[in-house]
Amino acid sequence: MYKIQLSSDDVPTKWYNINADLPVELPAPKNSKGRDQISTLPDIFVGECLNQEFSTDRYISIPKEVREIYQQIGRPTPLYRATKLEEKLNTPAKIYYKREDTSPTGSHKLNSALAQAYYAREQGIERVTTETGAGQWGSALALACSMMGIDCTVYMVRVSYDQKPFRKGVMQLYNSTIHASPSTNTEVGRKVLEETPDTPGSLGIAISEAVEDALSDDNVRYTLGSVLNHVILHQTVIGQEIKTQLEIAEEEPDTMIACVGGGSNFGGAMFPFMKDKIDGNSDTEFIAVEPSACPTLTQGSYDYDFGDNVGFTPLLKMYTLGHEFVAPSVHAGGLRYHGMNTQVSLLTHEGYITPKAVHQRDVFTAGQMFANCEGIIPAPETCHAIAATIDEARRCKETGEEKTIVMNFSGHGLMDLKGYESFIDGSLENSK
Ligand SMILES: *Cc1c(COP(=O)(O)O)cnc(C)c1O
Repeated sequence: MYKIQLSSDDVPTKWYNINADLPVELPAPKNSKGRDQISTLPDIFVGECLNQEFSTDRYISIPKEVREIYQQIGRPTPLYRATKLEEKLNTPAKIYYKREDTSPTGSHKLNSALAQAYYAREQGIERVTTETGAGQWGSALALACSMMGIDCTVYMVRVSYDQKPFRKGVMQLYNSTIHASPSTNTEVGRKVLEETPDTPGSLGIAISEAVEDALSDDNVRYTLGSVLNHVILHQTVIGQEIKTQLEIAEEEPDTMIACVGGGSNFGGAMFPFMKDKIDGNSDTEFIAVEPSACPTLTQGSYDYDFGDNVGFTPLLKMYTLGHEFVAPSVHAGGLRYHGMNTQVSLLTHEGYITPKAVHQRDVFTAGQMFANCEGIIPAPETCHAIAATIDEARRCKETGEEKTIVMNFSGHGLMDLKGYESFIDGSLENSK
């Protein structure tokens, strides 16, 4: 079977919450010395999202309206078999990929954006704020807010704002207000601009601006597109659909592969399969792929650290490169985060997840091969998963193993052609 397409009725009715099944208890967030970040969380985040963050219910119902929009935007997404890539690699392995690029905004991010915008509106919130680097999250949230009928303000890192006019255009088309960050809209932004008027901005500054904006008005909340448990929860529609699709194909995954930035597409695709492994009923290998330029899981320490650069957030127990770490500007903007979701971190620490780091040029080489075999141009983030998938398939060729490999195809790269351009003209750096 080359394409396994379910019907709209097969969209899951519940999200799966791995908090119910973790092999050891998740370390709780902590306040940092002399500050109380935990008690301000309800002023920052939407209430239901916070409840879900700490819930231990195994399943959480997807609101009817959210599920209907999942259907409207094309869920369940198809699972494809990469037959041309298998042929090219001459591997005995079977390679399947889950198409999250088919979303209107081109990546998996809309799965959580819709849920977050819905819960905000239900709470009577009139506007949400967020930051965006590469622009995938900002675009998804802009569309979700438009569909749910609330306003959206996006703080877009200055350098991306200037370099990615298309993303800005998408967000404006979906009725969002975009500020190049640092902006004159917040105290944090004004202060930075006064000190360094020519700054390219950073995700850390943009987060601080979005949080300050949310705190300035009781009808406004802040939203995040990755890292937090509730974001992964919303993404578990991906893995539940894959489960149904593999049953139809009569396959069991030997290896599952996804890229990791904050961990949401990885956790969303893998966690529904993780319970069997935790219970000792499967030995599926889960591979998390990150850039060698931002090696959080492979070289970071498992420790308490801030989620942002300035220390607005509580301390979270996670793999981290340190909250002041600034990753080199690789093209996979979505994978440049210093930390990692706490559940993904714990499962890596306990040996349930195998982390792997790949170099930027190998990533684009893999992306180009995939595009030429399968036709779809992958996002630079997704190319990390592809590079690891190709490695695994090549290994299978050497050992003769007929493995079933399932990869999550997190998004397309049609807005990231600058990276491909510099790869093809030879100017792309391998960055570590
Ligand atoms: C944002 C993004 C990622 C990285 O974020 P995760 O939360 O780790 O999934 C990966 N791929 C694409 C296409 C993205 O937009």
